[in-house]
Amino acid sequence: MPIRATVWGENIHEQEEKAVSDNYPEGMHGQIAKLLREDSNITTSTVTLQDPEHGLTEKKLAETDVLLWWGHAGHKLVADEIVDRVAKRVWEGMGLIVLHSGHESKIFQKLMGESARLNWREAGERERIWVVTPGHPITKGLPAYFELETEEMYGEPFAVPEPLETIFISWFQGGEVFRSGLTYRRGAGNIFYFRPGHETYPTYHDKTVGQVLRNAVNWAYSGEKHPQLGKSQNTPIEKSLEPITERGPKLASHQAATSAK
Ligand code: ZN
Repeated sequence: MPIRATVWGENIHEQEEKAVSDNYPEGMHGQIAKLLREDSNITTSTVTLQDPEHGLTEKKLAETDVLLWWGHAGHKLVADEIVDRVAKRVWEGMGLIVLHSGHESKIFQKLMGESARLNWREAGERERIWVVTPGHPITKGLPAYFELETEEMYGEPFAVPEPLETIFISWFQGGEVFRSGLTYRRGAGNIFYFRPGHETYPTYHDKTVGQVLRNAVNWAYSGEKHPQLGKSQNTPIEKSLEPITERGPKLASHQAATSAK
């Protein structure tokens, strides 16, 4: 069974800014999907903010193994209910890859529990991305470093929790550095944050970036669902592994739930 990847695109700049639609005539989500389709082990579909329920219906999420997220101008337009739904699926085991300005998306902030703020500068400067964890599945086939000739600068401090692993560190022409590739686990879900991808530059046409995204989808995929991690469950006394006797006071609402069985 191939990995089912869904690319979520905000699809705002593509409609409003010529510099962006020139780079990405099929939308940024369309180009990212194209990169993923180079891997025959991945089937890819795209959804956008403008779709009903932002394209992230219960059904769509149930059929998604790994979700990729690109957003910038419309973070606040994403409904909280949908953010909660995505977080629940991550906890249950769906992989999530958050791209570039997605660092300030509601879903990333919720899963990180921090602001995820950073310093930035839009000057089309060179970014040199160093692999700091050789041998990691996300860096498979990559050189020791690769360069993007024009990118936006993101600088530390990046307000995120200490990651599980730091995969990439970027150096920018202006002198700043940034942790550009970070992994996390939330519930049963694997999360990867990948920094490059400013909308006015052709980053998602870069071959190495494509390799990173394909590697990341394969890494983030678990193929498992753990619905128990998305919802608490009562374990009735009569089903305890060893016999126990009920004792102590109990809330009336809990009493009712027990006697209803
Ligand atoms: Zn940007």
